Amino acid sequence: MQLVLKNCCSEKNLHASSSTVKNVYKNKTYYPELRTLTKNFYICSRKVFDISVFLTRKGLKTRYMGVLNTLLTHKTNKKNTMEQKTIETKISVYRFDELSEEFQNLLSKAKAQCENAYAPYSNFRVGAAILLENGEIVGGSNQENAAYPSGLCAERTAMFYANSQFPNTAIKALAIAAWTNGKFLAEPVAPCGACRQVLLETANRFHDFPVLLYGTDAVYVAENSKDLLPLNFAKESLG
Ligand SMILES: [Zn+2]
Repeated sequence: MQLVLKNCCSEKNLHASSSTVKNVYKNKTYYPELRTLTKNFYICSRKVFDISVFLTRKGLKTRYMGVLNTLLTHKTNKKNTMEQKTIETKISVYRFDELSEEFQNLLSKAKAQCENAYAPYSNFRVGAAILLENGEIVGGSNQENAAYPSGLCAERTAMFYANSQFPNTAIKALAIAAWTNGKFLAEPVAPCGACRQVLLETANRFHDFPVLLYGTDAVYVAENSKDLLPLNFAKESLG
């Protein structure tokens, strides 16, 4: 099973909304012949750009330029020229016993790391386990502080430890688990934004790697850590 998370931002988009096109086609004063010509096409696509291509191929674009412009104007007025782009993040959802032995072992290590957490303020214990390309497994847990911002998440504790102990070794996979109120969470817990930024830096430094998020009901697997931080800020952003 896959979850698809969508984010939207602006991008040039020539397609009119289906409701806009539908309204124009409903209006009897608009070119009944065009409605007949593009009827089947309209049913399957309802997009001005596609209709424009269709008419061009038929050698009819000039003849119907007026109605095409009207459709595009409707779109422009309605959307205020805003453009949209969709970014998808795919997360695979597994039962624990569906995972490879290697991933099950890594998740078990992450769960065990929760016992090492120092979380007297939140009682929210997080464990992380990193499998390195050399076969080593490095663990980390969250370390809180009375001065709250001085603490550190389990993921970054583990990542920095791995990168400092094995500076030339890439990461093969990362597993994360969380425990509170006497039990592991049913829903997987995801790394915070700051930790995702650290994952990105390491992925760019070597190569990307999967991230496993443990929950008692399901395990989420992001095939690439970068998928967890779309529109990110990386070395290239510095110019
Ligand atoms: Zn974090």
